[in-house]
Amino acid sequence: MKCEKAIEKYLSLDNNKSMPLSLMIHLFACKQCRKEIEDLRSTFTTLQHPPYAISLENKIMQQIMLQKSYYQKVSNFNWVAAGLIIVLSIGVISYSDTLQWLSLHFGNKILVPLYLVMGCIVSGYIGSYVATHLKKLEAIAHSIKSLL
Ligand SMILES: [Zn+2]
Repeated sequence: MKCEKAIEKYLSLDNNKSMPLSLMIHLFACKQCRKEIEDLRSTFTTLQHPPYAISLENKIMQQIMLQKSYYQKVSNFNWVAAGLIIVLSIGVISYSDTLQWLSLHFGNKILVPLYLVMGCIVSGYIGSYVATHLKKLEAIAHSIKSLL
């Protein structure tokens, strides 16, 4: 049995499962694997010890808390540009050939789904803007409230 295979076999064993004879023979003959398995056992024992586990958990939580939260800032220019594109699209769509072709095939029935889609797009745009500018809007609302 090769050393890599022996370590692999040892790692595949369950916690209290006894070692197969072939692995025991290899460990008897191979000092390097014996040492490596002893190190592994010591590491496993250390990891199972509660104080170490708690401190490890605390270290991980500290690292998580230190990470910056993901936040992608969209410039005001991009918001205005996106809003203008949406408004222009809504204004221009009534003159498009595609809408005339759709109206020819579906009649006025196509207008309701079209308006629903436009409403969803406008709602999504406004909802996204409000969700990303909540603090700014809250400050504006407070300043307006203080004026009244
Ligand atoms: Zn070995």
